[in-house]
Amino acid sequence: MSDFDYDLFVIGGGSGGVRAARVAASETGAKVALAEEDRYGGTCVIRGCVPKKLMVFASGYRDMPGEARSYGWDIQDGSFDWTAFRGSLNAELDRLEGVYRKLLANAGVDTFDARAALKDPHTVTLSDGREISAKHILVATGGRPVRPDIPNADLGIVSDDIFHLETLPKSILIIGGGYIACEFACILNGLGVEVTQYYRGAQILRGFDDEARGLVAEMMREKGVDLHLGTNLVEMARAGEDHALSHAGTGSDAASGGTDIKTTGTGGGTGPIWVKSTNGTEKVFDTVLFATGRDPNTRDMGLSDAGIELGRRGEIVVDEYSQTAVPSVYAIGDVTDRVNLTPVAIREGMAFVETVFRGNPTPVDHELIASAIFTQPEMGTVGLSEEAAREQEEIEVYCTSFRPMQSAFADRPDRVLMKLVVSQASRKVLGCHIVAPNAGELIQLAGIAVKMGATKEDFDRTVAVHPTMSEELVTMRTPLRRE
Ligand code: NDP
Repeated sequence: MSDFDYDLFVIGGGSGGVRAARVAASETGAKVALAEEDRYGGTCVIRGCVPKKLMVFASGYRDMPGEARSYGWDIQDGSFDWTAFRGSLNAELDRLEGVYRKLLANAGVDTFDARAALKDPHTVTLSDGREISAKHILVATGGRPVRPDIPNADLGIVSDDIFHLETLPKSILIIGGGYIACEFACILNGLGVEVTQYYRGAQILRGFDDEARGLVAEMMREKGVDLHLGTNLVEMARAGEDHALSHAGTGSDAASGGTDIKTTGTGGGTGPIWVKSTNGTEKVFDTVLFATGRDPNTRDMGLSDAGIELGRRGEIVVDEYSQTAVPSVYAIGDVTDRVNLTPVAIREGMAFVETVFRGNPTPVDHELIASAIFTQPEMGTVGLSEEAAREQEEIEVYCTSFRPMQSAFADRPDRVLMKLVVSQASRKVLGCHIVAPNAGELIQLAGIAVKMGATKEDFDRTVAVHPTMSEELVTMRTPLRRE
């Protein structure tokens, strides 16, 4: 008989926490409880990957009538009904949340709809005052979007808010150049919003392959995103208040009709927002979206008091087995700020169960994780960028960029990119980068080969699937660069 109420108490009902709880309970017979203060499914299901991807689909239909006409269809452009779409989206999220709750119930996991904090290494306190003890505690509380530290930043929204908008704005300014900024720039542009994006750096998607992100940026502009690099927001206020609007730039037109800027008071009201950027221009937008990164959810959880080490951004410091400085407490997913992706959190949850409940110490392999950025076109990537690989060793670069058959026929400017970064010494493919429609689907498969350590010659021995865009990955014969 255990001295504890539970063998495992999981804090956080997102992808990682739910998977760990479910597998520990159903496959190892552990007595498991889980607390979630918000909706089951967490960021990915409720306010991240899933609703985002559905919005990507919704936004992708904009160009289809035009393309269909090129292929002989008698079809007219339509308009997008945000209210109708949002209703269906919310119904789908409700359904998915129900699935998550059911999975936990079927596995025999006790759930608490409450916030949980750590009281000591074996006890959690729930927001309703109950105290529950457990032999092991798993913190899987994820992260939350952060706004920059500037006055009036609360006038802007963050990615969580997008899915709740009553109406789509006519114009939006997106701050940031990471995954979320670029994905929402493309989505909203596709849904008919006038999108302006400010990124403080020299090129969006810092850290990814230069050629690949360059093409994404070019295509985003081609599709209508007004992207400004080396630009940041320095001041913001409710339009018409708190500032001297010396002139309204192009961004003002959609929001204000050029001159008639209505003021509704600062702080939590609604109405156009005036912004001033680092290059001195002043503009007015209906909405400002901050996509300026995410911080781990570790505030007010009693973690430091319980002896758990937190990093500079508040992330829980763990070892390769996801164990914290307190042996009974583990942490997985975005709250540890390792590789902040849903499938990684799930892997970490499974490895935790294997380590703790099956007695088989299992570290998570964080190497060569393929991922996709759902811009339009998408970018899929695995392994090293050309720039990172060159720092490491001598490489060969195979790269081609072209108008795919489907776009060329429709006389559209869309281009795709297929790229392999190869080690001169080992011949291994160190990185594969794809910018193309459905690049996420393609990189999943290329990722297997790269993870297996495939060489350029393995790719070459593979017969092409014709006619496809990705056949280029096995037909590129001459390196573009060798250095
Ligand atoms: P990222 O860290 O990817 O990007 C944050 C962006 O905001 C960067 O461009 C950064 O600039 C910029 N920024 C940060 N602080 C400021 C500031 N004070 N002023 C102006 N700009 C600023 O975060 P995201 O929010 O886009 O995404 C969070 C995480 O979520 C990602 O790391 C990713 O792991 C995950 N995610 C994955 C997706 C996928 O797999 N498709 C989709 C969405 C999210 P700089 O580059 O100069 O630092």
